[in-house]
Amino acid sequence: LPLPPNGTTPLRVLTIAGTDSGGGAGIQADSRTMALCGVHALVAVAAVTVQNSLGVSGFHEIPPHIVADQVRSVATDIGVGAAKTGMLASSAIIEAVAGVCNEVGIGRSGTVPLVVDPVCASMHGDPLLHPEALDAVRHTLIPLATIVTPNLDEVRLITGIDVVDDATARQAAQSLHALGAQWALVKGGHLRTSTESRDILFDGDRFLEFTSTRIDTGNDHGGGDTLAAAIACALANGYDVPNAVEFGKEWVTRCLEAAYDLGAGHGPVSPLW
Ligand code: PLP
Repeated sequence: LPLPPNGTTPLRVLTIAGTDSGGGAGIQADSRTMALCGVHALVAVAAVTVQNSLGVSGFHEIPPHIVADQVRSVATDIGVGAAKTGMLASSAIIEAVAGVCNEVGIGRSGTVPLVVDPVCASMHGDPLLHPEALDAVRHTLIPLATIVTPNLDEVRLITGIDVVDDATARQAAQSLHALGAQWALVKGGHLRTSTESRDILFDGDRFLEFTSTRIDTGNDHGGGDTLAAAIACALANGYDVPNAVEFGKEWVTRCLEAAYDLGAGHGPVSPLW
């Protein structure tokens, strides 16, 4: 992506998500990706997680009106070129985020593209979303999405579809599109039966496939956040959705290739210094 000349105001991209005290995922991955993509990161914190490389041992939710106020505050003053959501924790936070996004023009009802990463759990299986919030993800959050980017576990929780091959991935993409997302990206990277990472993108009309070599590393913490953040940066730069996905996928592949050990558990994808 083009970097802005020194001294000029860069594009702004907003992340509405959770923090990671281990610095690998969530808002830390988002704001790092944004800085490296040459955009200014705006941050609305929805939850604070207690986590290290071994997992998430707890989280604290920010009151829903404070989450919405952060979004309103930056949108009305600084301006937002694209936005993404990550960990939103509860249905009350999702409702508050949807309300303010509609108010300030973020998402499908407005003019600012929105990437919805429907974060449900960490790679260790630690919950990051209350199960009661799944209906709000389906019926309040996903209908706002310019693009929704679930991994296969999230696909199963949201649509009930167990993706095992191309046919079921396409079925899942159709189901996510039917919930109201403009584009649905079903990420196949966690399908361990393949040597390729194949993602399926669907807009209600065409299926597009994005294939890369699967990078088998234990250090992939924050990969999903990094992909969604890179897609948001490309959308802010005026890329259409398929080109933004292609950019994001190339970006996260390079981050996976450069991932490093950290702590005794899973290290993060590299920020690509
Ligand atoms: N913590 C936060 C705040 C996140 O947003 C996410 C993922 O979106 C995670 C942890 C989990 O990351 P991973 O799936 O790499 O464990």
